[in-house]
Amino acid sequence: MSQVQIVEVGLRDGLQNESVHLSVDQRFEILKSLAHAGLKRIEVGAFVRSDKVPQMAGTAELLELAQKFKKENKKFRDLKYSVLVPNLRGWEEAENLNPDEVALFASSTESFSQKNINCSIQESLERFAPVIAKAKKKKIKVRGYLSVCFGCPFEGKVPEKNVIKLVDQMFKMKVDEVSIGDTIGVADAGQVKSLFKKLKNKHPIKKLAGHFHDTRGQALVNIMAAYDLGVRIFDSSIGGLGGCPYAPGATGNVSTENVLYLMNGLKAKTGVEIQPLIELNHQIGNWMSKSLPSQVSRAGLLKV
Ligand code: MG
Repeated sequence: MSQVQIVEVGLRDGLQNESVHLSVDQRFEILKSLAHAGLKRIEVGAFVRSDKVPQMAGTAELLELAQKFKKENKKFRDLKYSVLVPNLRGWEEAENLNPDEVALFASSTESFSQKNINCSIQESLERFAPVIAKAKKKKIKVRGYLSVCFGCPFEGKVPEKNVIKLVDQMFKMKVDEVSIGDTIGVADAGQVKSLFKKLKNKHPIKKLAGHFHDTRGQALVNIMAAYDLGVRIFDSSIGGLGGCPYAPGATGNVSTENVLYLMNGLKAKTGVEIQPLIELNHQIGNWMSKSLPSQVSRAGLLKV
């Protein structure tokens, strides 16, 4: 039976792209429910400037609560927390709170890099280096996000060779895992197969993750295409929270409930229950006064 890791990114990638801001208490409630549902890898937040990304304000407080929660509950020993750190300043805030993993972010195109993080791709990689060195010293895992790997809202289709070169570079810098992002939900299964086939020839497949958005309804098909090639780590967000501020109409990450439904059908082992997540989805929807996009949560599981 295949083991699949679901990296729950709703609290970071999801919420940071939502206009309704949830409090630290609400985010902590979500985190606990995610853990109870069986999720083992949770991205807790981002150490970014709260005047720029107010949705992530209080990440330190949230991570502190999360660590206390883990300490007090033996059954969550294996739970791993990740936080996004854009630079050394972010790292300094994060390090005393002992996250299990820090995540770094780079883009596959120059225009997206400039718009999103205000620097060139190479500059963003240079910012990685000291953070990676410090994380390695503390035995903290490093995850690299590579965004717009298939298509960019400013540059269109992204050449595979550019993506492959950046993935090579990230692994060379000792990043432990690279998440291949379809940030604006434009990839098709043909592209996914082609790119992952090439990446797989150069790097261990267990170090690659798929990060798909459902903007054009292709996320699960893309996940299936990657799964068939041996990818066993997928990012998703509860309810399908999120979007992309630079891509009009971009919906959120593929929803965790939808991915679990697919994985259950494939008899892949995730260790996560869908039903509690459906209930969590409705709770978050109430807080945000909207219905979250996950079809599995909207329709529910078969009752008979
Ligand atoms: Mg995303």
